[in-house]
Parts: sequence; structure tokens; C-alpha cells
Amino acid sequence: MVAKILVVDDELELERLILQRFKKNIRNQKFEFIFARNGKEALETLAHEVPPVDTILTDLRMPEMDGLILLDRIKEIDETLKAVVVSAYGDMVNIRTAMNRGAFDFLTKPIDFRDLEITINKTVEFVTETRKNRQQLRQVRDRLHQRAYSDELTGLANRNAFLDRLQVCVDQFAENPEGLFAVLFLELCRYRMVKYSFGHGLSDRLLIATAKRLKTCLRSTDVLARLGADEFAILLQNIRDDREVQSIADRIHEAMKSPFHLDGSLLFSGVNIGIALGNLGSTQPADFLQSADTAMHYAKDPGNSPTAFFVPAMQENALWRLQLESELQQAIAQEELHLNYQPIIFLPNHSVSGFEALVRWRHPQRGRVFPSEFIPLAEETGLIVPLDNWVLWRAGEQLNRWRSQFPQFWPLSISVNLSEIELSHPSYLALIDRILTENFLSGCSLKIEITERTLMQQSSQINNLISQLKTRGIQLCIDDFGTGYSCLAYLHRLPLDIIKIDRSFINGMETDSKKLDIVKTILTLAETLGFQAIAEGVETAAQLTLLRSLGCPYAQGYLFSKPLEEPAVASFLTAFSSE
Ligand code: C2E
Ligand code: CA
Ligand code: CA
Repeated sequence: MVAKILVVDDELELERLILQRFKKNIRNQKFEFIFARNGKEALETLAHEVPPVDTILTDLRMPEMDGLILLDRIKEIDETLKAVVVSAYGDMVNIRTAMNRGAFDFLTKPIDFRDLEITINKTVEFVTETRKNRQQLRQVRDRLHQRAYSDELTGLANRNAFLDRLQVCVDQFAENPEGLFAVLFLELCRYRMVKYSFGHGLSDRLLIATAKRLKTCLRSTDVLARLGADEFAILLQNIRDDREVQSIADRIHEAMKSPFHLDGSLLFSGVNIGIALGNLGSTQPADFLQSADTAMHYAKDPGNSPTAFFVPAMQENALWRLQLESELQQAIAQEELHLNYQPIIFLPNHSVSGFEALVRWRHPQRGRVFPSEFIPLAEETGLIVPLDNWVLWRAGEQLNRWRSQFPQFWPLSISVNLSEIELSHPSYLALIDRILTENFLSGCSLKIEITERTLMQQSSQINNLISQLKTRGIQLCIDDFGTGYSCLAYLHRLPLDIIKIDRSFINGMETDSKKLDIVKTILTLAETLGFQAIAEGVETAAQLTLLRSLGCPYAQGYLFSKPLEEPAVASFLTAFSSE
């Protein structure tokens, strides 16, 4: 590399000597010399020279701007650059003054050229080293910055970067409320399930693929960020109105519709989108993200549209959920949960074949909290895993007690509801085995209810698990049948045992011929496929008569009994058997 040396001297003498002395070196391209006549010219040269000057040789006494002032001002242009003073006035005062102003060395005229060459080399080396260190430092700083502001997995902006961009947007909007913006909070559906069933590798690839799809729905000026595990955020600027935002959200849903082909697996996902518009009335970026998040939770409710615009009333609901979540966590730890048992009746001989375990939460302040309120929340937060584990344990222990308590009613079975997430948990089978062994139960006394929606996920993991359960004699029951979208061909392939006809078809079947037709069809289907059928939610004698006449083998519902507290089970069994 050629070192660039700036020689600052008003006497042409120095220039001439240097050129003469370094001629050989100039040809070798070790040094390139450029010249200035005084400090002022030198500063101008420094400001424009590319690549930059590596070392300065400067005289002290010069017209317009002397060497001392030049020494002072070099750092304004380049902090790494060093100057060597070459002066005829090499007395101590001058040397000290120059050194105090940042001179790297001091040479006296007449010049000893060997000395000069050594000094130039030394100075260039020092400057080069300093610059190299600085550059490395800058690179480290850039990398740290990159890490602090981008998401490593997807390469998208992260939360910090998103909030920074949002802050700019919020400030601009405060000055000019014309340019509306919107913050979209997105959550990927079924991410947790994919992570538990297929592992990190695949769930990571799902996130990367999602990021790619989201990008295709956005303009280059929109900001897309990944906030956390399965959460993304989008900042849309300069939008006309909420209709425009809605159409972008629609485009995103459309893009997410087709399945992801990842590692030979076909994965269906989707997103729920919450939206906060720029006219929220806050100046804090975090408020926009929070509001969009709140709206996203609203959108996530199964009954709602997958896109929701934030309105203040959602906040109350969000607070309530937040509190409920932490309380539920405690409830599982402190055993505030307990089980109720609803009998399942075998119709042909009017006997109790078993019970369905239904979880209950006796909240110290709120009183009874129903599963419809906390199961969806537990599924969302992952708390469903410890919850369902707890239910399995309790159900197993209970059945073991009943066996010694009610030999006259034996065999009884117990049905347990399990969520998709629990089912995909890696340690699930081991848990079942422990529960069966420790309670001396055979698999055939345990039934597992899975909703139709879960089964239709078609994951090889769930299929594999089902066959593992079968080898243990555990019966599988498809819950809420008729409410999902079962593919009949698929149903046929699954080694299921029981279909539970959803209570929405039983309720009103006496008067509504359509419902009656559906019940008939499901019963025929069950028979054809060799499944047993349980009618859920039987409330009236008329429904029971109809079901009997249709040959439905099992029924469950308030007509026989509401879900019972444990102590009431004994008297129910006795009373029922003497009916
Ligand atoms: P599900 O599995 O469909 O449970 C049947 C629900 O219907 C129960 O509601 C039960 O109390 C109610 N029911 C029973 N007979 C009648 C009737 O004749 N009429 C009417 N109107 N309702 C009847 P519950 O206990 O509130 O549970 C609601 C849902 O929560 C359950 O629906 C199940 O999906 C879920 N769940 C309950 N316990 C657990 C659990 O331990 N784990 C999981 N993952 N889910 C649970
Ligand atoms: Ca059930
Ligand atoms: Ca059900």
C-alpha cells in the first residue's frame, strides 16, 4: 500500500529535497507525496483527499496559518492522522508546544534524511494501526447494533428496531396528522403445536417461510418485524383509511392460506391480526404495539374474524385475561382445580359405563370459573400442558379408587379431554404409562377425547401417537363430532373407537328435522366405520326415546346427571342402578 504524505512548508527547498531523496521510493510506490504551502492549504487538502492522507510533515513558521494552529485543527478533520514537525527551531519550548498540540514527533532542519525516513515509517505505521483498530471496533459495534436491532432467525427488524421506526412515525404524525399510519400485530397459528410435534428445526423454518410470505404482501416502505416467538409486527405508513389497512390484512390472510411444504410435511397455519391506527391518541410507540396486541387477542377468539381493529373496550377484556392467566398458573400449582365426573350411560341395559372427567376451577375470589373461560386461555399460553397432565393424574387416581370402592359397578371407564398441544407433547406417552402403572390400570379403562379439529390436523406425529395409544388398549374418542370439517376418507383411516355427537345436534333434534337427519347420518357413519357413538348433551326424555329408536348405544347429558362432584358419584351410581 502506498502511504500518502502531506508536506506542509512555504519553502520550496524542503519539497525539492524530499522529492530528490525519495525518488527511488516513489518509483517503488512506497510513498506518495503531496504538498501544501501553509496550514490553510493543508486543511483544504486534508478535507478533500481520497484516500486520506496518512502522515503530515509540517513546518512551524508559515504565512496565513502556522504549523501550531494546523496541529490543533487536524483532529477536526481526521482523529487518526498524525503530524511530524520539521522545523529549524528545535528548541525545547517549541518542541514541547508542538508535542502538547498533538505532534507525533519533532525533526530539526537541516534534515537528516535517514532519520526522516524512519520517522515517516514509524508515523505511517502508527496511523495505519490506529485506523485498523478503529475499523475493527466499528465492525464489532455494527455487529452488536445489528444484533440489537434485527432478528437473527428471519433477518427482519426486531422489537427495538420496530419501536424506533414507530417513534419516528408517531412524531411525524403529531406534526402532520394527514399521513395516517397503522400498526399490525400478527400471531402465527399453531406455532406451538408445530414446535412440540416437529421440533425447533421445523418451527424455525415455518417462521422463516412466514416472514417471506408476509413480505410479499407489503410495499417496500412498510416495516416488517419479528417481535418474539410467533409474533410479527407491521408498520404501514401513509395510508388513506382503515379500509386500505383491512385490504392489506385480507391479502395477508389469503397469502397464508396455502399450506407450507417443509421437510416433506404439509403444514397449515394462518395468522390473527390486531390493528391499531395512528390516531390512537398516544405518543408512545409501545402503546400502539400494545393496543394492536390486544386487538389481536380479540381476533384470535374462535368466534371472531381473524382481523380486528383496536377499540378501547378491548382493553378491559385484555386486563381480565392477563390476570386470569397468572391466576390460572397459581391455580394449577396450588390445586385450586378439581374434577367433576359426568356419567356416560350404556343405553341398551341402562347402565353406567363410565364417567367423563371435566375440569373445574374453584377460584378463591371469583367463585366457579368455567372451562369455556379458561381452557382457550390455557391453550393459548401453553398452560394447558400442566393442566391436562394434572387432569390425567387425577383421573387415573380416581379410577383406581373407584375400583375398590365400587366393585359392584366395575368395570368403569374414565374419559379425559386432551388438547392438541398436550397430545403433541413429547413426554405425553411416558406420562400415560406412568399413570396406568402407578394406578394398576389397564389401558382399556382410559378413554381419550380429542376434538374433531385436532384430529384433522393430519400430522404424522398425531397418527403415530394414536397407534401408540391403541397398543395400550386406550380408546380414542372424537369429541364434538359434526362441528369440525372431517374428511370422511381420513376418518376411515384413523384407528378411532368412539364418535361423540355434538350436543348442538342433539339439542332440538325432536323438532328440527335437519338436526335429526344429521344425527341419523352420524349414527350410520359410526356403524359403517365400526365406531361406537355417544350422544352428548341429552336433556329430555324425548331426545332419549329418539336416540334409542335410532340405535344410539351411549348417551350423556343433564337428563341423566350434570357433572358430579366426587362425593356425589357413589349415591348417583347406587340410585341409577336401582332405577
Ligand atoms: P366437552 O368435552 O364437549 O364437554 C362437555 C360439556 O358439555 C361440559 O361442559 C359439560 O358440562 C356440558 N354438558 C354435559 N351435558 C350437558 C347437557 O345436557 N346440556 C348442556 N347444555 N351441557 C352439557 P364443561 O364442563 O363446561 O366443559 C366445556 C369444555 O371444556 C369441554 O367440552 C371440553 O372441551 C373442555 N374441557 C373440560 N375439561 C377439560 C380438561 O380437563 N382438559 C381439556 N383440554 N379440556 C377440557
Ligand atoms: Ca369431551
Ligand atoms: Ca363434546
